[in-house]
Amino acid sequence: MAGFLSGLGNLGLGNLENMDIFAKEDKAPAKEEAAPSAQTAPAVLEQDLIFDKKLKCPVCDKEFTSKTMKTGKAKLIGTDFDLRPRHEGVDTVKYDVELCPNCGYAALSRYFDKIGQAQAKLVRENISKTVKLVPYTGEIYSYEHALERYKLALANAVVKRAKTSEKAYICLKTAWICRGYIEELSGMTHGHSDLSEEARAEATSADEISRKETMEALKQEEENSLENALAGFTEARMSENFPMCGMDETTMDYLLAQLNFHFAKYDDAAKLVANLLTNRNTKPVIKNKALELKESIIAAKKKA
Ligand SMILES: [Zn+2]
Repeated sequence: MAGFLSGLGNLGLGNLENMDIFAKEDKAPAKEEAAPSAQTAPAVLEQDLIFDKKLKCPVCDKEFTSKTMKTGKAKLIGTDFDLRPRHEGVDTVKYDVELCPNCGYAALSRYFDKIGQAQAKLVRENISKTVKLVPYTGEIYSYEHALERYKLALANAVVKRAKTSEKAYICLKTAWICRGYIEELSGMTHGHSDLSEEARAEATSADEISRKETMEALKQEEENSLENALAGFTEARMSENFPMCGMDETTMDYLLAQLNFHFAKYDDAAKLVANLLTNRNTKPVIKNKALELKESIIAAKKKA
């Protein structure tokens, strides 16, 4: 978990960098298959799929604008093993954190307004007082900026003592942002890479090394985030009610089965899959995916 919140120092929140994400008060801390890449040349432009939405911050009461996906415009072309959605021409996940540029309060869109007075006070005292935000002026959110927004959302969630599931969901989506960023850097993007084939050929070797280093750091952060998501959701599944983060119980169990499988926890994955296959509430689409995962678990156990 170390270093997971690294980078907050640049935002004036260095004191939060080593916080334990899932720590409980007065208690000890609780403890891939590549999806087919979208190689289509999209006619869809990211900037046409988003708009500036006016929001009022529930922490400082100031109004601000946030870039938001237009409803129903982005076309879903697939999902990754961990349910990360892939849309044509845009990575919608970049636009799922609201950030108040005035006080530094940030949260996933679905939780932004769901903050109590006591929590808002915690944010004012532990975030707003020290946070240093650089105004973002880009037409679309870069991955670098999106990652910053997610880090702030996680720092806020820890500070406001959010539910475990909310923190786990931020971790999961942070992993998705890292994956999207890696795809952009490696050129297999949704179509908007600044790095054309020629540009990459011309890139100096120093650029190339720094690009590789960034990708390696992002891969590490993706894995750390997935691990935190697994730990958090596993705990939340036992202590919270469904629906959780918009997911029903069988969707969550499928996600947990996939994450356990990803980290080679085959017995835990197999147990979840077995439950899904016998559960009457499991939708056919999840049942089919669970059957595929069952085969993968059997194959992986043979190899292990
Ligand atoms: Zn604010």
